[in-house]
Amino acid sequence: MKRLSIKIRLTILYSFFMILVTGAALAVLFSLSSREILASAQARLEHRVQESVEDIRIRNGELRLDSDFYSVTRDVYLSLYDENMYFLYGRIPYGFIGQPEISDGEVRRIREGELEWYVYDMSFNLSDDRTVYVRGITSVTDAEESFSVTVRFALILFPGLALITGIIGYRFTRSTLLPVKRITDTVQRIRADADLSQRIGLDLGRGKNRDEIYNLAETFDGMLGELEEVFRREKQFTSDVSHELRTPVSVILAQCGACLADELLTGEQRSQILLIQRKAKEMSEMISHLLFLSRADQGRQPLNREQVDVSGLTEMVAEEQQMLAEEAGNGVKIVCRIREGITAYVDETFYIRMLINLISNAVYYSGKDCTVTVSLDSDGEWVTGKVADNGIGISKEDLPHIWERFYRADTSRSGSSHSGLGLSMVKWIAQVHGGSVEAESAPGQGSVFTFRLPVKQKNEETEKDENI
Ligand code: ADP
Repeated sequence: MKRLSIKIRLTILYSFFMILVTGAALAVLFSLSSREILASAQARLEHRVQESVEDIRIRNGELRLDSDFYSVTRDVYLSLYDENMYFLYGRIPYGFIGQPEISDGEVRRIREGELEWYVYDMSFNLSDDRTVYVRGITSVTDAEESFSVTVRFALILFPGLALITGIIGYRFTRSTLLPVKRITDTVQRIRADADLSQRIGLDLGRGKNRDEIYNLAETFDGMLGELEEVFRREKQFTSDVSHELRTPVSVILAQCGACLADELLTGEQRSQILLIQRKAKEMSEMISHLLFLSRADQGRQPLNREQVDVSGLTEMVAEEQQMLAEEAGNGVKIVCRIREGITAYVDETFYIRMLINLISNAVYYSGKDCTVTVSLDSDGEWVTGKVADNGIGISKEDLPHIWERFYRADTSRSGSSHSGLGLSMVKWIAQVHGGSVEAESAPGQGSVFTFRLPVKQKNEETEKDENI
């Protein structure tokens, strides 16, 4: 099962506890209020009955009641009984049909069908020594009803409250974790673009404190800065060394040429100088590759793009490589499947360099008498080229790394002239044109290298050129 994001998990946790705490608080509140409401109904009842005795008096030997006795004050109905439980005066609430026994000074809870009542009786001695009983009745159901409306109201509001809590929790967690997303995005961008100059750069809004995440981002930015500096120095070192080596290697090559012109050389001396010359050539080539890549890294490799007949160029490079293969005598056959008349907006020199690398690799890593197929096609928007061979192939483990500098999949098969820089250049050339290159391969079955380049100049580039 997919793991929930921290954002969702924190929101659920937060909402769960908020709902739990609010629910528990409401439950306690309701139970206390319910008790309080019933207690206050009882107190009201007792108080009303006790004060009602002021409304009862004897005048001219007759029992008289003030009109207040008949009024229903604070939901309490009053009635008067004689010693024999005979009803004299007063009001009985609608629905109270029974005639419970007198129980002096005690509040009782009496149920009658659906309804419940509090009944309170109090004896009262009249001035003529007669005893009467005042009975107060109030509805428990009414008191509870008004409370249950509040409970129902709260129960309706509760899901809304839970939802609002969830939303607030989610927004809060999201805003808290936003910097973490920024960090992840930056790292992903750095990986995708291989560009160490990018920074997380969390800015603190006014009045905001530096929290743990801000400190983490700042540490990260610091580390990126140091890494960038290390890489910059390493590239500078490669570039400087390549520059410094260029002159001595040219001198060695020139001296080898001069020595070889000497007819007095013995056969052995000649072959020794030829060996030195071959190694110096390999070294010179490696230096030129290194210089190419370090210029590319420093953004100093100018791209001179124009609309070029790539069909013709591809045909020409394939033929040249066929000739070289024949000279090397390895019997490799290069077959062309090139659609005629395709043009693309490319740098001609870089395009040739890319093709030479791909075709020469295919020839080199194919066995004797193998076939290399070079194809080119276009859908009007993209030019797609393929260089396929049925040679040694590349293992699954090596395949993702072949684009790295100095990576050689099978060192025993790649000779000393193969430095592992060719495909890095190919990748850079494809990408700088706004295209891509990829490889499919299986050991023992061969490899297919596919590049895609845009046919036309992109709009932004046109605008840029026009502005210049
Ligand atoms: P190299 O100069 O060593 O050929 P590249 O960068 O051109 O360097 O290639 C990197 C590695 O990829 C090579 O060392 C080789 O192992 C592997 N490789 C490239 N092209 C092919 C191919 N057509 N068939 C098999 N392996 C290849």
